Amino acid sequence: MSQDCIFCKIINGDIPADVLYQDDDVLAFNDISPQAPTHILVIPKNHISGPEALGESDETLVGKLVRVGTDLAKERGLTDGYRLVMNNGERAGQTVFHLHMHVLGGRTMTWPPG
Ligand code: AMP
Ligand code: ZN
Repeated sequence: MSQDCIFCKIINGDIPADVLYQDDDVLAFNDISPQAPTHILVIPKNHISGPEALGESDETLVGKLVRVGTDLAKERGLTDGYRLVMNNGERAGQTVFHLHMHVLGGRTMTWPPG
């Protein structure tokens, strides 16, 4: 738990979220400002500031974030494609410094991203 971290507050139930899945390790909820018809965030329950803060011992956890994200995408019928995104650092658009994977789908995605 990191004080002043908005996602830690969601994990603790101090801030409400539209939770879609959780277990001991991860939490998935709808993004408050969706950029696509489906926009889910999958986060670890431990506070990790972002991708570059991951260590070797987190490799299983990262695999789980991806598996939970793809399971939720499948549940939502996103059979024709969706995007998994992790922003690392301010210049890449990271605004919340608690690791999170975006699951975006339900519309055609462009490449390269902006
Ligand atoms: P990033 O820009 O990659 O750091 O993504 C942070 C995401 O968190 C953004 O898409 C925000 O819309 C989302 N977000 C911020 N606060 C909340 C919240 N209270 N509940 C759900 N999503 C949030
Ligand atoms: Zn946090």
